Amino acid sequence: MVINRPSDAAERAAALTGALRVDEADASAVASLLHAHGEPARPDVTDADVAALRPVADRLWEIFGAPDVDTAARLINDLLAETAAPPRLSAHDGTFWHLHADRDDDASWAEWFAASSALALAVLLAERRALPGGLCASASCGRPFVMTGRGAPRRYCSARCGSRERVASHRRARK
Ligand SMILES: [Zn+2]
Repeated sequence: MVINRPSDAAERAAALTGALRVDEADASAVASLLHAHGEPARPDVTDADVAALRPVADRLWEIFGAPDVDTAARLINDLLAETAAPPRLSAHDGTFWHLHADRDDDASWAEWFAASSALALAVLLAERRALPGGLCASASCGRPFVMTGRGAPRRYCSARCGSRERVASHRRARK
């Protein structure tokens, strides 16, 4: 993994969770997504890997959908307790030293995804002193997104979802 910043790992968690939960991504789509989010080469991902990743996505979905920061912290701690090993630096596959929280460099995709996502969301929550993300309020989207920086919490995953919803509510109001 060449991702070093927790916010990048959190973005990857949101993207993969959305792909698995909303888009029913298959092994090929998951491999492309991991490559787009920092894997040095397009990784080998099997159908069995995807089946093991789905329950992890369910857990992350719950965290992104947490109604308040105390609930999010509790859910993140549960996932850390179940999946994370002592943090360690790894330089696997010729990458520069970077932080891992999975058991070892041979951990499965599911173990790695659970531990690295939980750690990233934990760091983000503590850093922001607020929820690390949310679920898009657009009924036709609902995808998880990461909240970075300060300021008011966002309701939508993207400007596109926000403006689509504004147009829809104008239309409703005019009727
Ligand atoms: Zn959206």
